[in-house]
Amino acid sequence: MPSPHETETAATPAPGAAPAASSPAPVRSREDIDPRGRSRDRSWPPTPEPLPFPVIDNHCHLDFADGEQSLGVDDHVARAEAAGVDAQITIGSDLEAVRWTAALLASDTCPATLRGGVAVHPNEAALHARGSDHDGKALIGLDAAIAEVSELLTGPGMVVVGESGLDWFRTSREDEQARAAQIESFRAHIALAKELDLPLQIHDRDAHQDVLEILEADGAPERTVFHCFSGDAEFARACVDRGWYLSFAGTVTFKNAAGLRGALAEVGLGRVMVETDAPFLTPVPYRGRPNSSYLIPLTMATIAEVTQTGLEEACRAVRATTEQVYRWPEATSA
Ligand SMILES: [Zn+2]
Repeated sequence: MPSPHETETAATPAPGAAPAASSPAPVRSREDIDPRGRSRDRSWPPTPEPLPFPVIDNHCHLDFADGEQSLGVDDHVARAEAAGVDAQITIGSDLEAVRWTAALLASDTCPATLRGGVAVHPNEAALHARGSDHDGKALIGLDAAIAEVSELLTGPGMVVVGESGLDWFRTSREDEQARAAQIESFRAHIALAKELDLPLQIHDRDAHQDVLEILEADGAPERTVFHCFSGDAEFARACVDRGWYLSFAGTVTFKNAAGLRGALAEVGLGRVMVETDAPFLTPVPYRGRPNSSYLIPLTMATIAEVTQTGLEEACRAVRATTEQVYRWPEATSA
């Protein structure tokens, strides 16, 4: 996800949300971090033809509200179910989202088909090291933030450490303090994943080689996942050869993403998973509109096409890999 800055916490559910008791409301709005603001088309795309075999969205951000119609957690889950996406993993990426995610997973109203993960996002790591967010509001230090994350990861429903890694797009590699903070945070999360025996979801933006070198130097967790994989065929091969996993988001459907499709074609389905990164990265033909797990069939269609596999076979393979990586819902083989 793009790096959100701290925003005010809504004390009450958003207007129009389903009853709070059954549907926890998101805490922040995508407009807070999306420069396109409200000028974009904020209508929800229609539900695609349901998948012939259900898959899991292994990376979304349910803490974000988006769209002209406010959807709660239960709404996203119900829409996903109708599209053949019967389980989801929601990721909390800044401290506010981390706390929201932990509280959701621990609540009585948390849907049974939902699990989660938390981490200090690399861009957030730079801000914690600096001690203030983009608006100048004070933030706790990086060590304290990681300590809180590590504590919450032992709570109910947590199945992954993520997303952590390196982002040389939003945080300049030339900013020495920011770079050092990202690297320190990444290494701490690698250690945490190993200590807790959890998979690690990696955020790698314009940082392929540095990410690979740090993973090699420290020893990658047994289950290492490149969330929203963005490398080329050569990098995909390098990851798969090391036993790592690649999760493809809606970006693989983008017209200008021939390189990404080349990466997928290179490695085939063996270590591939699917995700939305919702509400971001909406697949074609709905780019720019709100995203939710129910739109995964569009991304799965591209994955099947690129790997020259039937859609059902592709879904079965992706699901089996996802269940093995997260040891959930069942480590059944397809
Ligand atoms: Zn994300």
